[in-house]
Amino acid sequence: MNRTLLRIALATPLLAAAMSGQIYDLLLKNGHVIDPANQRDGRFDIAIVGNKIAAVGQDLPAAHARVVVDASQYYVTPGLIDIHTHFDAQGADLNLQADHNALPNGVTTAVDAGSSGWKNFEAFKTKVIDHSKTRLLAFLNIVGAGMYGSAVENNVQEMDAEAAARMVQKYPRIIVGIKTAHFQPPTWDAVDRAIKAAELSKTIVMVDFSPKPGREYSDLILKHLRPGDIHTHVYGQGTPQLDEHKKLQPYMLEARRRGVLFDVGHGAGSFWFRIAVPAIEQGFLPDTISTDIHKRSIMLPRANMTTTMSKMLNIGMSVEQIIERTTVNPAKAIHRPDLGTLSVGADADVAVLELQKGKFGFLDSGHGKLIGDKKLRCVLTVRNGEVVWDTEGLSLTDWTKAGPYINFK
Ligand SMILES: [Zn+2]
Repeated sequence: MNRTLLRIALATPLLAAAMSGQIYDLLLKNGHVIDPANQRDGRFDIAIVGNKIAAVGQDLPAAHARVVVDASQYYVTPGLIDIHTHFDAQGADLNLQADHNALPNGVTTAVDAGSSGWKNFEAFKTKVIDHSKTRLLAFLNIVGAGMYGSAVENNVQEMDAEAAARMVQKYPRIIVGIKTAHFQPPTWDAVDRAIKAAELSKTIVMVDFSPKPGREYSDLILKHLRPGDIHTHVYGQGTPQLDEHKKLQPYMLEARRRGVLFDVGHGAGSFWFRIAVPAIEQGFLPDTISTDIHKRSIMLPRANMTTTMSKMLNIGMSVEQIIERTTVNPAKAIHRPDLGTLSVGADADVAVLELQKGKFGFLDSGHGKLIGDKKLRCVLTVRNGEVVWDTEGLSLTDWTKAGPYINFK
């Protein structure tokens, strides 16, 4: 470097940083970082270059960043992972637009839970997954046509484990496992064929289960599901988690010891304070917190991610426990340890969350409410290095300093 260039560089911090290779595109400064995958819980700066996490530290220089966000009032967490969503293009008229419903809630990875099966997954991929900013993954429904109503969902002939497994193996970076749901005949066909497809494709199953005479819930979680398989709707009224005295059934703990995972899957009908509160008071926390977000659940019970997290917070879970169950735990559950982390080199997916204090009402799926004093709100979301949600303009310049119109990009 010649002397003139060196002088200019030293006078211009951004240029100096560029010459030493240290320019950050985005710097989230001084937030309360909770990154359970790295056992990190404290004040840190997070620097992003391109679409990757470039540095995590306590005094990263603001002068080296193109955009600085003052995160000192907020929690900064890995982009949240919601493993039970419905963002399919076709389904049973329940689907929602992924980006409009995931990103404003800090969700950067959403897993569609069986809206489509092997017959229509590729249409979902072409029409939705390939065009979403949100990272969309999927559980493939064991029903070939997916969630297309009871006529196909109760038809065992629709459940072709080999065809489903072939589709999983064709898209191993998108399809994380097999889903079974809504099966009413009192047999094990749907569960067992879903598990067969998961075995053939070396993946896991997520089960939405209705017990019937001869098809007991305890048998599902103690005998049929394998370690790593997931029962979703753990606080729903459809399965007997508690006895008549609201005491946790011993088989819940036994199944957990076997390695079966329990997911919230809030939904329109599957999250009841009357079950969740006593279960959590007895120490039965979920392994993962998910929404089962769709056209109906988003309305009265508000099954979006931050509202669902706020419900868990007011029941008694800590912010740290909740972030663990919306980042590292779901990443592990779907065998994607590269997600749900702020490790240097990871994709730059970040959520910035505000903890509000006040008086807030929350609805469940069973016409019950809970009045709480805390609420989580997502103020900023970064997906793949790009700010995609910013309610307070944290990443922007005050308009009086925004310069000529020509600066607008
Ligand atoms: Zn669902």
